[in-house]
Amino acid sequence: MNKIIKYEHHGKEVSVREDLKGTHAKHCLCFENCEFFKPNTIDNCLIAQSLFEFDIDYGVTTPVFECVKYNPSLIN
Ligand code: SF4
Repeated sequence: MNKIIKYEHHGKEVSVREDLKGTHAKHCLCFENCEFFKPNTIDNCLIAQSLFEFDIDYGVTTPVFECVKYNPSLIN
């Protein structure tokens, strides 16, 4: 059985599998992969921005594993 720990994320105490803590960006299709991902800007992807706001409101973390609008970043 996986060990579950608690820590503070975005101002809320959340539970997480210890082996997965802090790995969400590594697994997410948005981060450093998609040209539409522009966090903290008004040009951010609507899906990513909506997920971020959902995560803040509900105290969850939701990496994107699949996306119909993904487009490769020109930087990478
Ligand atoms: S289009 Fe999809 S993969 Fe790209 S930033 Fe938005 S949610 Fe992430």
